[in-house]
Amino acid sequence: MSQIAQALQEIHSQLPDGTRLVAVSKYHPAEMIEEAYRCGQRIFGESHVQELQEKRPLLPDDIEWHFIGHLQTNKVKYIAPYISLIHSVDSPHLLHEIDRQGARFSRRIPCLLQLHIAQEETKYGFLPDELLDYMHGGEWRSMEHVQICGLMCMASNVDDETQIAREFSRAHAIYNKVKEDFFSLDASFRECSWGMSDDFPIAVQHGSTLVRIGSRIFGHRGY
Ligand SMILES: *Cc1c(COP(=O)(O)O)cnc(C)c1O
Repeated sequence: MSQIAQALQEIHSQLPDGTRLVAVSKYHPAEMIEEAYRCGQRIFGESHVQELQEKRPLLPDDIEWHFIGHLQTNKVKYIAPYISLIHSVDSPHLLHEIDRQGARFSRRIPCLLQLHIAQEETKYGFLPDELLDYMHGGEWRSMEHVQICGLMCMASNVDDETQIAREFSRAHAIYNKVKEDFFSLDASFRECSWGMSDDFPIAVQHGSTLVRIGSRIFGHRGY
């Protein structure tokens, strides 16, 4: 069995029913994606628009492409026709642009709102209070071309598993509150995107429905 096949099998054995795997293929060539595809993997995550645009035509049509990196508003138009889920909506402005591009292509684009929970790491994402304020503001209710399907977050890049667990648990509590207050009747709000190569076993204990795993499948990225 190839290393990729083995890694996929090992990860799947640790995922509960209801948690899906996003294979993060950024910086890896199409051939490696194809190999994971041959093992049955269908969801792939990329974090750079240009790289995704270059690789997608080389690969099977039934791949579900997820965008997981910081997305500049001026690049939304390139991925709007086909992207299956944008995990990393980190501002009202970006959501608005996704709605605009969704309208151009007559589709409703599935999105997750990115929470900023980690101590440092990234400057991107809604702080918990900002997210709740934004939801209360209600502007999103009139956006007919985005579908808010849940939340995404990254934990701090630390060894302290207690801290990581605390962060995922906090994200899950915020997810539950947003679900209850704004989406209790909306079955499409159901995704918690957390967990990467090093922390996904902790994430699945705290409600993760989508884990985003790269290096554990494809090895280290050459950058
Ligand atoms: C690169 C990346 C991942 C995957 O990271 P690994 O540690 O390689 O599993 C997950 N989420 C985001 C947002 C990323 O940019």
